[in-house]
Amino acid sequence: MKLHEYQSKQLFAQHGIPIPRGRMAMTAAEAKAIAEELHGRVVVKAQVLVGGRGKAGGIRLANSPEEALEIATQILAMQIKGFPVRKVLVDEAANIQSEIYLGVTNDRAARRPVMIASAEGGIEIEEVARTNPAKIARIHVDPLLGLREYQARDLAASIELPREHWRSFIDIARGLYAAYCACDATLAEINPLVITKAQTLLALDGKMVIDDNSLFRQTKLAEMRDLDEEAPAESEARKYGLTYIKLDGNIGCMVNGAGLAMATMDVIKVAGGNPANFLDIGGGAGADKVAAALEIILSDRAVKAVLLNVFGGITRCDEVARGILRALEQVSTKVPMVVRLVGTNEEEGRRLLAEKKMTTATSLLEAAEKAVALTRQEVAA
Ligand code: GDP
Ligand code: MN
Repeated sequence: MKLHEYQSKQLFAQHGIPIPRGRMAMTAAEAKAIAEELHGRVVVKAQVLVGGRGKAGGIRLANSPEEALEIATQILAMQIKGFPVRKVLVDEAANIQSEIYLGVTNDRAARRPVMIASAEGGIEIEEVARTNPAKIARIHVDPLLGLREYQARDLAASIELPREHWRSFIDIARGLYAAYCACDATLAEINPLVITKAQTLLALDGKMVIDDNSLFRQTKLAEMRDLDEEAPAESEARKYGLTYIKLDGNIGCMVNGAGLAMATMDVIKVAGGNPANFLDIGGGAGADKVAAALEIILSDRAVKAVLLNVFGGITRCDEVARGILRALEQVSTKVPMVVRLVGTNEEEGRRLLAEKKMTTATSLLEAAEKAVALTRQEVAA
């Protein structure tokens, strides 16, 4: 789950990280009122869960409350990368001397968190990694020891931060690491962390991604989820307890079990195709769940064929087949489907599907090849 900038910065502030004064507004009038409270120049920032807002014109300076009203009106009417802007953050404007990058994420290969810093802040860190990798400093953190002060100092030295800012930088790095841990985040990022002309450090932008698997215990954070900002298919999937991630191929996948879903996606690629999504329907795939999953998959216009790969363990294959058939009564579609069923009562399951003229397969490779062939037919037709 991604948090908005205004939410992330609030969490940062709770861990002692200095942020500009300011608040979120949902109307231009509120934005004006905030600008009045702040006296002086403000920055009006679109709150959408995508990067590059600055370049898209979603971040603008206002010299007066009237101007803040006007700019907020314009920004609230914008769409950024397809996302309508529904909220803005109005912050006291900062006088920037230079911009730093500071972030922490999980390094799976190293099996521990890694803190990343760069003197080339403001732009995307991926961009810096591509064009100027030497400008990025990394430090791995032992999760049992936490971020040690010497490590933060080491980062400060690596990015050639002037000494007078080290104390503040170390506190911010430790605050960021603490926020990352306390929130069960998979990413906590300040970009830019600025050195102001008044020679203080200030977190101007904030981004946090919270591990969805922790939301059961992060109840306060779970409430911060902005449903407006989610792809509707993903909210829908969560409602039914499905795990759905949209990808950019054209073969929809419906699979029970995350590992099997991964394997299915791999085999689709082996067969020369591309998966349109990851979807784990979980155990006990009854008709309702299958129908919901099918609807979600088909809501993606790119899908030209659907591959259902179900292993009938506890749930019997004939039951799954009935579920699929009932689901197809609820969801009418012309998109062709290939079903691979294995496990308890598989013959009976396949027979039920074949009766309804559905394409079935016994091996996963066969199923993937059939699905790929169906997408090709579609293109040829
Ligand atoms: P992003 O483009 O979505 O990452 O949004 P950011 O919040 O990082 O802002 C992008 C850029 O706008 C920053 O790198 C700054 O250069 C600039 N910016 C943001 N806030 C202020 C501000 O208060 N004053 C000034 N002068 N520039 C700002
Ligand atoms: Mn930024």
